[in-house]
Amino acid sequence: MIINIRSQASDEQRAQLLALLCRITGNARPITPTYIDGCEVIALDGSQIDMQAGALLAEQGAVETITRVKTPYKLVSRAFKPEGSTIIAGGISGGNAVTIRSSVGSTSSSPVIIAGPCAVENREQLLTTAQAVKAAGAVVLRGGAFKPRTSPYQFQGLGIEGLHLLAEARELTGLAVITEVMEPDMVETVAEYADILQIGSRNMQNFPLLLAAGHNSRGRPVMLKRGMAATIDEWLLAAEYIVSAGNPRVILCERGIRSFDQQTRNVLDLACVPLLHELTHLPVIVDPSHATGRRELVPTMSRAAIAAGADGLILEVHPDPNSALCDGRQSITAEQLRSIVRETQLIAEMIGGKKGLSWVA
Ligand code: PEP
Ligand code: MN
Repeated sequence: MIINIRSQASDEQRAQLLALLCRITGNARPITPTYIDGCEVIALDGSQIDMQAGALLAEQGAVETITRVKTPYKLVSRAFKPEGSTIIAGGISGGNAVTIRSSVGSTSSSPVIIAGPCAVENREQLLTTAQAVKAAGAVVLRGGAFKPRTSPYQFQGLGIEGLHLLAEARELTGLAVITEVMEPDMVETVAEYADILQIGSRNMQNFPLLLAAGHNSRGRPVMLKRGMAATIDEWLLAAEYIVSAGNPRVILCERGIRSFDQQTRNVLDLACVPLLHELTHLPVIVDPSHATGRRELVPTMSRAAIAAGADGLILEVHPDPNSALCDGRQSITAEQLRSIVRETQLIAEMIGGKKGLSWVA
């Protein structure tokens, strides 16, 4: 259930509504209004609210409308917001603004290309890659400063120094910057430097981190990667944590799910792309690098992702993939990126408004 609060509601009417909700729900969780697109809303699990209580709520002076949303996720659902979300990132300290749009049903679209190294390794590597991916057509630079590595003996990233280098790369190229944040206490620091916060696969259900990203004081957009064994509902509920904490600027990123086959690093679930466009208004992008783990598969799966309706791609690019400190096997060169950008642009123009499932139904 989503309650839209009247913008002219008095403090008293608002307080009355909150008190009533606490009584009805038995204080099951704190009831906090959230601002979405300038409207104040309260989302809650309506299953505890019977007809009588629902009628009482509808009579409250603070209530504008009540929308019943059957899915467990509410604010991220298409039932709540039928039109796709447009997220504007960047535009800080020398960087360009970038628009990432859930473009189902639009007549033309330009997928957002995010590219860069898995990890920020040193100044020269990052600045060289940033200039090369920009020339190849990317609009956002990726690069991990804090790396979640499987082994404690692997390169862990440059930390704060990596954030400084990303800011320098933005000043040099104008590219917006995305980087991963791994812990709640680092959200504000990372948001100081990054245009978009990345929450990685291993942290998709790190609930304190999701809430901290939802509360980030600069309102930075968040790219939420799918957990390696997460169902689509779990993923959307993770996104719901961020949105219900007050940050509606969430981008979903499919990066493959783990299965039994050792040939590819993960299994790229492309069916989730048109399905998500049905279920949510959030933009959906695809990461063919982590999904496959093999650079020779990246161009084909990039084309397939855009044909499936992805709103963008995130790709690992390195000036010398074989010597990368992290994920070299799946990294491509900027030259290869250039072809992918050209090809995916053509595919996006060709499929135009035919994204999502509804046009088939
Ligand atoms: C990454 O983007 O470098 C990364 C660690 O990805 P994932 O969280 O999808 O494994
Ligand atoms: Mn990586």
